[in-house]
Amino acid sequence: MFIAGNWKLNCNIVQGSKLASTILKNIEGKNLNCKIAIFPPFTCLSSISDVLKDSVISLGGQDCSIHTNGAFTGDISASMLVDVGCKYVILGHSERRMGYKESNALIKTKANVAQNMGIVPIVCVGETAKERNLGKEKSVVKTQLLNSIPNNSKGSYIIAYEPVWAIGSGITPNIDEIKEMFVNIKYILKSSGNNDDIKILYGGSVNINNSLEILSCDEVNGALIGGTSLNADEFSSICLDVK
Ligand code: PEP
Repeated sequence: MFIAGNWKLNCNIVQGSKLASTILKNIEGKNLNCKIAIFPPFTCLSSISDVLKDSVISLGGQDCSIHTNGAFTGDISASMLVDVGCKYVILGHSERRMGYKESNALIKTKANVAQNMGIVPIVCVGETAKERNLGKEKSVVKTQLLNSIPNNSKGSYIIAYEPVWAIGSGITPNIDEIKEMFVNIKYILKSSGNNDDIKILYGGSVNINNSLEILSCDEVNGALIGGTSLNADEFSSICLDVK
C-alpha cells in the first residue's frame, strides 16, 4: 500500500515543517504496512527534506517541467526535485489538466523526463461528472492512460485514479464503481504491454471514515489524499490503519 498526501497550494515553510514533523512523530516507532509520501508546495521542499531525512516518509513534488534547465521562467525541473530529495512527482492532476490546459502529450513528456531523472511519476487520470453521466468514464480514462503514461512502460511509475467529481467534494464512488474502474485500468495497462505490477491509487475525498473501506478493495494499491493530508492526525491515522 502507498499513501500519498497532496498538500496542493497550502502551507508556508513553518506550517509545512510542523505538519511534516507531526505526521512523523505520530507514526514513528509504530507498525506500518504502507509506504508514505508527502507532496508539499515547492517552497517547503527543502525544509521538509531536512525534517524527513532518514525517515520512513518520502518526499515528492506536485509537478515538474518538461525541461532540464534554461530559459523557462517559473519552471521547476525533475532534476531540481531530485536535488531537494524528492522520489516522486505528481503529474497530470486534474487541477493542472483543467486549470492549465495540460494535455496528455505534455503529461507524457513530463513523465518521461521524470523517469529519466530517476523520479517516479504518479500520473493522474479521471473523468468529470459530465463524462460519467454520459457513461464515458472508461473511454476517457483509457484515452488519458494510453496517451499520458511514460514511454518506458516497464519503468517505474504509479497511476492515480481520481474522478474529478470526487476531488474535494466529499463524494466518492461506491466500492463497486471503484473496483470496476480499477479492473478496467489494470486491463488497459496489461493489454498495452505494461507491467502487471503497476500500482494504482484511488484519490478523491479520502478521509478517516472511508479510507479503510476503499483500501480494503483488492484492486486498490493505495490512496492519493488531498484535503485530509493537511490534518496531521487524520493523515497519520489513515496510514497507521492500513492492514
Ligand atoms: C487530490 O487533490 O488529489 C485529492 C484527492 O483531493 P481530496 O482528497 O481533497 O479530494
